[in-house]
Amino acid sequence: MIVVLKHNPNQDQFDGLVSWLQDKNITVHTSLGHGNTVLGLVGDTSKLDTDLIAALDIVESVKRVQEPYKNANRKFHPEDTVIKVGNTQIGGGTLTIMAGPCSVESEDQVVAIAKAVKASGATMLRGGAFKPRTSPYAFQGLGATGLEYLKVARQETGLPIVTELMDLSQLPLFDDVDVIQIGARNMQNFDLLKAVGHQDKPVMIKRGMSATYEEWLMSAEYVMAGGNQNVILCERGIRTFEHYTRNTLDLAAIPVMKKLTHLPIIIDPSHATGKNWLVDPLAMGAVATGADGLQIEVHNDPAHALCDGPQSLKPETFDTLARKLLTLHNSLQTLED
Ligand code: PEP
Ligand code: MN
Repeated sequence: MIVVLKHNPNQDQFDGLVSWLQDKNITVHTSLGHGNTVLGLVGDTSKLDTDLIAALDIVESVKRVQEPYKNANRKFHPEDTVIKVGNTQIGGGTLTIMAGPCSVESEDQVVAIAKAVKASGATMLRGGAFKPRTSPYAFQGLGATGLEYLKVARQETGLPIVTELMDLSQLPLFDDVDVIQIGARNMQNFDLLKAVGHQDKPVMIKRGMSATYEEWLMSAEYVMAGGNQNVILCERGIRTFEHYTRNTLDLAAIPVMKKLTHLPIIIDPSHATGKNWLVDPLAMGAVATGADGLQIEVHNDPAHALCDGPQSLKPETFDTLARKLLTLHNSLQTLED
């Protein structure tokens, strides 16, 4: 349920309303926008009398929210969510560029790539330490050692790190990670979502390869229901009948998510296409469509990468792309001003 308050509500009446709701086991999220203050009510609101609330002096209107996701709903929180990560932020008109190798392979490799992508304008370093691989015989990642190498790369460059958590048992190792990534294959691992909801590090949820928008938002809701409001969505291609590309990038997800939710959305054109030459046009398309950022795989030697070489850009190709992305983003902002 959403309660929209009148301008400058009387503080005593405001406090009275909030404690009355809390006594009924309702959690109240207050969103102070440029316009009206909005109260998002979560819990069993079925027994609340909407007419009674609407009749209060400080209340402008009361609406029941039909969608099953409440915290993630834009109606609940009209302003865009902006997530602070280190010295940078995700959302709020910025363009976040997460770049780095599919997998961390060695300290030298990840440090060299981190330095290169930083020089090109990347704002975060990506790299998998725990890797979800289709084959049990494929490289599974360096695990805890890979996380240590990522931290060395952060130390050397100042870039915050985003890396995938595959299993609950790994969570204690992620204490010093900046953004926890939940991979496409784990989008509906509800125990994992609950666990990352009970800590306060930002969580980026990649869309499952056959997940609907509502299922994806319900995964965000799991994290937010646990108390962690720092959720980022990442579209990384969905499975369709088309086999030419690894997946099919759903760019419509950007404006749809902007309408349905206040959470930032990142596009991953690398896993979406599986081909290095498609990363540039689709990344440009994502910025033009309003994405808050990109996640791009970059490798210093793609031909010998232990994972996803064919979709990885060389640092010099990434450099050209990153400059184009920032130029496009800046010119779109000028158009909007
Ligand atoms: C990844 O980003 O390393 C990854 C495995 O992506 P996805 O979960 O989207 O397949
Ligand atoms: Mn990969």
